[in-house]
Amino acid sequence: MMIPQLPHASHYMQLPREVLIGRDVASLVGETLNRLGFHGTALIVTGETVLSFAGGTVLDSLKKVNIGTETMTVQSSTTEEVARVEKKIQEMNPDIVVGFGGGKDIDVAKLGSMKAGKSFLSVPTTASHDGIASPLVSMKGLDRPYSYVAHAPIAIVADTSIIGKSPYRLIAAGCGDVVAKYTAVRDWKLAHRIKNEYYGDYAAELALMSSRVVMKNATSIRAMIDNGVRTLVEALISCGVAMSIAGSSRPCSGAEHLFSHALDIVAGETSLHGGRTGVGAIMCSYLQDSNWEAIREFLQEIGAPSTAKELKVSPEQVVKALTMAHSLRPERYTILGETGVTEAAAEKVARATGVIG
Ligand SMILES: [Zn+2]
Repeated sequence: MMIPQLPHASHYMQLPREVLIGRDVASLVGETLNRLGFHGTALIVTGETVLSFAGGTVLDSLKKVNIGTETMTVQSSTTEEVARVEKKIQEMNPDIVVGFGGGKDIDVAKLGSMKAGKSFLSVPTTASHDGIASPLVSMKGLDRPYSYVAHAPIAIVADTSIIGKSPYRLIAAGCGDVVAKYTAVRDWKLAHRIKNEYYGDYAAELALMSSRVVMKNATSIRAMIDNGVRTLVEALISCGVAMSIAGSSRPCSGAEHLFSHALDIVAGETSLHGGRTGVGAIMCSYLQDSNWEAIREFLQEIGAPSTAKELKVSPEQVVKALTMAHSLRPERYTILGETGVTEAAAEKVARATGVIG
C-alpha cells in the first residue's frame, strides 16, 4: 500500500468504496466501474475455468457500457505471474484492473495492479478465504511465507449465484478462515499487552463479529442456502475491511495462521488455507485456554477439516508445524511466545484437541 507520510500517532485506512453482494450482481460490473469514474479500458485478470464458466456475464456487462477489455488468464499466485500482469498493464495502460476468480487470481491482480499503480476491482467467484476483500496478498516466490499489505480493492462485486456453485470444500475452508479470527484477535490483544503493539478495538470487534455471525449461521451455510452463502461472503468481506481499518492482518491472522503457513512449508499444499487455519484455531484456542471445543464443533458441523487426516497431513507434520510456527514471523507476537511450543507440548495439544489420534 502506498501509505502517505503521516504525523506521529496518525492512522491510515484504505477501504473499498462500493460493495455489491447478491444474486446476479456480476452483470453490474460495467455500470459499477462507470459509477466509480472508470470509462475507458479494463484488464481482466482471471483463470481458465472461471472464464469459461462465468466470464460471459462480466464481459457482457463491460461491453454494455463501452469499456474496452483485454483478458489474461493466470495459473498460480507466483511472482512470475505478477510480473506478467505488471508488464501487460504497462503495455495496455488500462484504466482499471479487474481481478475475477478465486483467491489466486485476485491476489495476482491485486499485487500486479498495485505495482503498476492502477486501481483494482475484486470480483470473487469463491469464498475460500478473506483475501477476496482485504488489502493483503500471499504469494509464492517472495521472501516470506505469510501475507502482506498491498492495496485494498476499490470495490467488490460478489455474485452469490456464482460463488454458490463453487465446490463445497471451498465454502467450508472459508468458514475455517473466519472462525480463526477468535484466536487471531486474542493474539492481537496479547501482543498489545506484552509488546505495547497498536490495537484497534473497532477492527478487532469487526473481525470477531464475522466469526460470531458465521458460527450462528452454520446450518444455512452447510445447506448452501443462498442466505448462508451470502452470510459467509459478507463475513469474509468484513474481515477484509477489518484489516483495512487495522492497516495490517492483525485482526485476522494470529498463531493459527502461522501454523497454517508452517504446514505449507512442512507438508506442501495438500489442503486449503482456510481448512488449515481452522485446525490451527482449535489448537491455538486450547493454548489460549479458551473455548476450543466450540471452534471444533462448528468446523465439524460445517464439514470443514478438524483433524490432521482431513488436512491430508501426518501427525508428525502437525507437531513439526506447531513447533516451528513462532519462528516464521518473529515480530508477530502470539500465544506461541518468542520460543514457541516444545515438541512434547505440541503433541499434547494436538492429541488433547483430537487433531491427531
Ligand atoms: Zn486467512
